[in-house]
Amino acid sequence: MNKVVFPGSFDPFTIGHLDLVIRASNIYDSVIILVTKNVNKNSLIPFEKKIDLIEQVIAELNLENVHVDFCNTLVVDYCSKNSVNLILRGLRSGDFDYEYNLGVYNFEINPKIETIYMFAKPSNMHISSSGVKELLKYNKNIDNLVPYPIDQYFKEENENL
Ligand code: ADP
Repeated sequence: MNKVVFPGSFDPFTIGHLDLVIRASNIYDSVIILVTKNVNKNSLIPFEKKIDLIEQVIAELNLENVHVDFCNTLVVDYCSKNSVNLILRGLRSGDFDYEYNLGVYNFEINPKIETIYMFAKPSNMHISSSGVKELLKYNKNIDNLVPYPIDQYFKEENENL
């Protein structure tokens, strides 16, 4: 079976991430969205909630070959443990240097695991989790940037303030 892992901090999961997942699900037998704990970034959404929300997004779209998992280890170690040898990452116009370095580190740790890249679709090129966070800080609308369950989560959080 042809499996790929799509790792990220997804804080929050955007329509840019979702587009990659949908495209990968049309190519691979199985896509695992791997929610990572990034020690260098403070998470806006609690870790378990983030997983729950991404699962809701996938369930609403009936993406049957897509699953959500998490790890607090290196992604390559997760892959070795779970017999996956493909890591998917996304490329927007400014991502190359960061993604290249990450890919090389992963390759040096385990050359049997290949990192593959999909470009962001042009209409999503500007979308980033950090951009969404910035808009949220100033109470701006994000419903065109994140899937419905994620938007709803922030609306409810806002109401409870
Ligand atoms: P990380 O903290 O691991 O970089 P992110 O959640 O920021 O995780 O991103 C996960 C992956 O999704 C990265 O490869 C990133 O380049 C890609 N990505 C982020 N935004 C977009 C987008 N708008 N379109 C396509 N890929 C994207």
